[in-house]
Amino acid sequence: MYRCKYLAHGLYIGLNEFRHCCLYFHSPEAREEQNFIINYYGPKKSKVDWEEVFSKKKKLLQDMRDGIIPAFCKGCRYIEEFDEDSENQYSSDFDNYIDIVWIGHSNHCNARCMYCNAFVALSTKIDTKDYGVIKLLEEMLKKKIYNLEKAPDSIISFAHGEPLLLNSFDGILKLFEKYGNRNIALYTNGIKYSRMVEKFLKHNEKVSIRVIISLDSGSREVFKKIKMVDKFNNVVKTIKKYSKAVHEDNPCALGIKYIIVPKINDTKEEIDKFYDLCVNKLGVKYLMADIEEHWFIRHNGDVPDYIKELLVYLRDRCKKDNINFDFFDRAYVLGL
Ligand code: SF4
Ligand code: SF4
Repeated sequence: MYRCKYLAHGLYIGLNEFRHCCLYFHSPEAREEQNFIINYYGPKKSKVDWEEVFSKKKKLLQDMRDGIIPAFCKGCRYIEEFDEDSENQYSSDFDNYIDIVWIGHSNHCNARCMYCNAFVALSTKIDTKDYGVIKLLEEMLKKKIYNLEKAPDSIISFAHGEPLLLNSFDGILKLFEKYGNRNIALYTNGIKYSRMVEKFLKHNEKVSIRVIISLDSGSREVFKKIKMVDKFNNVVKTIKKYSKAVHEDNPCALGIKYIIVPKINDTKEEIDKFYDLCVNKLGVKYLMADIEEHWFIRHNGDVPDYIKELLVYLRDRCKKDNINFDFFDRAYVLGL
């Protein structure tokens, strides 16, 4: 039998819709129909029928158990197999609560990364204003849809656009601090620095924040080619401040990512520059690597040996120096 914990309890709050999860690269053509739950335009315009949300989840979960994998899930590494006779039948998968939220209702950004998905929405003129997400999150907390009693390790994650440009960013963090949410994952480009993030990185008994910045380069020139903005120095300054703030008990609270973009940053020299900057100059203790998503899809996941070697090279440098390291999404599925 099969299950997915995100299908059971995940909620992606998008520009004008709810989705089951934030992933869509496994089968992009199937995503539009399947990953979609309901339309949603913010608390001023929409009222959520939570029964409908959970009944849609339950239908897909049951299908999965019956061996019908939703099209958008095919090939996803988060699908788990379990035995029909095993003790744990994951019955709570059918309970009505959310334990991971991806906040992705705005695609405002101060970068223009060549691999970005957020701008598809901009080009189709979807309204991208911050639509009062705090109200929705508060409703979820109060109604125990987002249920910290049942699932104390629930995760709030930011996706789509640059979270630090949200007017509500500090308010969202304060809200979850108030309710005692332990896990917050922040994907930011690092161009804008946040005092509050720095404060949370230092030490906070109620909130544990994990900050991920994709630098993808070790030089201003390559950064510019990928991010299409000349802000390398801003990001370096931000990383320096956050890195100093990271508490020694939690060195992975700040992760810097290198997404390999073939023909742009796929050289050992650039990886060496990235490594020396992050580890030796900025004191980062956690690096990650991935492969650019659109390229990966275009090539059907067929990754040439030299890219695999670069991934292994970065991992081995980290290993040698006792730096924490992880492969991310596309790099992870290669099983290197
Ligand atoms: S299996 Fe993958 S794609 Fe499907 S809901 Fe789970 S995380 Fe999303
Ligand atoms: S920082 Fe993120 S949202 Fe902004 S352009 Fe890059 S990938 Fe897109």
